[in-house]
Amino acid sequence: MRRRTLRFVPFRIEQDRTAEPTYEAVCVSGDDKECGQSSDEWITPHPVEVWMREHSRDTGHTRFRRAFVDYADVSRQG
Ligand SMILES: [Zn+2]
Repeated sequence: MRRRTLRFVPFRIEQDRTAEPTYEAVCVSGDDKECGQSSDEWITPHPVEVWMREHSRDTGHTRFRRAFVDYADVSRQG
């Protein structure tokens, strides 16, 4: 049996350390309509956690969509 040879093209993906990653949470509590309030973007996760605790305490909302966003560079090797 002959095997098909797939040529391996080496790419490297690395986090771009010149751009700061960001953290954010959006409240998705609610049955018919999501609350939608946001923590805004932060460069560390702690303020987002503080905001979620406070928002939860103030509103009773308990469900959030969290996002971590970073930037990546792809480079071809060789
Ligand atoms: Zn909410």
